[in-house]
Amino acid sequence: MPVSASHPDAPEILVIGAGPAGLTAATYLARFRRQVLVADGGSPRACWIPLSHNMPGFPHGITGDAILRRMTEQAQEYGATIEPGAVGSLHRDGDRFVARLNGREVRTRAVLLATGVVDHHPDLPGVERAIERAQVRICPICDGYEATDKAVAVIGCDDTGVREASFLRTYSRRVTLIHVGPPEALTANGELDRLGIELIRAPIDNVRLDGDRVTALGWNGTFRAFDLVYSALGTSPNAQLAGGLGAAVGEDGRLVVDGHQRTSVPGLYAAGDVVRGLNQIAVATAEAAIGATAMHNDLREADGLVVR
Ligand SMILES: Cc1cc2nc3c(=O)[nH]c(=O)nc-3n(C[C@H](O)[C@H](O)[C@H](O)COP(=O)(O)OP(=O)(O)OC[C@H]3O[C@@H](n4cnc5c(N)ncnc54)[C@H](O)[C@@H]3O)c2cc1C
Repeated sequence: MPVSASHPDAPEILVIGAGPAGLTAATYLARFRRQVLVADGGSPRACWIPLSHNMPGFPHGITGDAILRRMTEQAQEYGATIEPGAVGSLHRDGDRFVARLNGREVRTRAVLLATGVVDHHPDLPGVERAIERAQVRICPICDGYEATDKAVAVIGCDDTGVREASFLRTYSRRVTLIHVGPPEALTANGELDRLGIELIRAPIDNVRLDGDRVTALGWNGTFRAFDLVYSALGTSPNAQLAGGLGAAVGEDGRLVVDGHQRTSVPGLYAAGDVVRGLNQIAVATAEAAIGATAMHNDLREADGLVVR
């Protein structure tokens, strides 16, 4: 039996973000019979996934949209409320957090940040469609397997590009790093020779399309054909709301949490891409399960309901 829907202005728990992390946390919390409101700014990263082949339990793959649809249905089945809208600010008022959402104040006992990251896309025409069609890829951990024996280009602007190109050597001997950043940002290029990775230093100024398909990249009047293009231009974590509360943030801009997903601010938890560089759905959902359980137990503790 679902718990009664949360009061829109005073849920016990506010989850910010309805990607895999936020939706998993919402399901756990609703099943702990907590009133939970999930606020979502839209376009979770997971909706970009054309077909994931490494999602546990889906041997023939599943689209990002289908993953989100199933997770949303599961959270709602147990009474979680999901509301479209970006949380504009978050502050503390006594023993409550106060969030600004859709023109009103939402007061809550605890908050889980599952706000993800923003990808830095390469400056290529039609790049968003190319990502949706898996022609430009973001994450070799997700889909490097599908690059096996292909001619692969990695677009990088610093040593992250070198690391990503070296990761892809597991799959293919034909890996080219196209460095589009400033020369001094590439310090690990000595490794490229050792690993048999070609280096091109040039801004990409053209792409060749076959219908919608990116078939070649161009620079300085030259075109080269590639089967697959990876972008290794990095991401920016959506950690501003926590930063405003004084939560500890690592050098990479991600939120620092303990083993139970607690940030350095009591009552504020975080899970998913905003926490960990290993941006994977399995990781986001695991962290959400750990964080949601800690939130429930910490509230039980505050209410004097824990027996030791
Ligand atoms: C092209 C592509 C392919 C991928 N393929 C795979 C794959 O095959 N396998 C795999 O495991 N992973 C894959 N990933 C990675 C996977 O999508 C992420 O690891 C996962 O989505 C992280 O989940 P999350 O809930 O942390 O963040 P997200 O899914 O990004 O969700 C974050 C949500 O928070 C919301 N939000 C942010 N700020 C606010 C705010 N202030 N107020 C309200 N809402 C807010 C956003 O709008 C967004 O909806 C892929 C990613 C991309 C881009």
